Amino acid sequence: MVVRSSRLSLALLVVLGTAAGLCAAQDYDFFYLVLQWPGSYCDTKQSCCYPKSGKPAADFGIHGLWPNSNDGTYPLNCDPGTEFDPSRVSDLLSSLRAHWPVLACPSNDGVRYWGHEWEKHGTCAADVFDEHNYLQAALRLRGQLDVLGALTAAGVNPDGGYYTLGQIKDAVRQGTGFEPYVECNRDESGNSQLLHVYFCVDAAGSSIMECPVVPSGRGCGNRIEFPAF
Ligand code: AMP
Repeated sequence: MVVRSSRLSLALLVVLGTAAGLCAAQDYDFFYLVLQWPGSYCDTKQSCCYPKSGKPAADFGIHGLWPNSNDGTYPLNCDPGTEFDPSRVSDLLSSLRAHWPVLACPSNDGVRYWGHEWEKHGTCAADVFDEHNYLQAALRLRGQLDVLGALTAAGVNPDGGYYTLGQIKDAVRQGTGFEPYVECNRDESGNSQLLHVYFCVDAAGSSIMECPVVPSGRGCGNRIEFPAF
């Protein structure tokens, strides 16, 4: 009797453990790769601070690689026990500084920002990524998307001018091959400006794909500033 109940408990534990494992592994269907225009991050009431390494290049940088589900939900902070360890990504630091620039104040070296992204989003994709692969994958995927080149080739320049949402989306689709989701913020005078461009990446974190669903958010309107940086 005692033997039977402990066998039953063991079986139950195995079933529950497997279910928990599956949940953790399958809590998303794809990733958003979110790229950011630094000029728009800085051109706000709040302003910004350049990183300790100096003013970043005038180019789209990474904001994050975020697991997301087809139903629009997304997992966050999946392993509160995990702490970002910068020593594991020392080989990536110069690429991170160049392509994942920290712009928050006070000026810093970016480690907290990258760690925040890994802890908040990356730990939810621990089935495909560890800390190093997560940051490396975002850098690799961004390297396949010349968003600024796509925009400028279509005459959409970061010159403080205004463009329609159609102009921006068409230019990015033409130049990169993928339909982007565009997110805006507001400049000091309240004008809508181009802050983020979202792309989608398959659940393996390896290939860019068309987005199955786009974030629900406030639209950009149809008069979008593209500020200089
Ligand atoms: P998340 O928590 O991944 O949704 O990212 C949002 C947080 O990232 C907010 O606290 C933003 O202020 C911060 N953030 C966004 N862009 C940057 C940037 N370029 N540098 C530093 N922090 C940023």
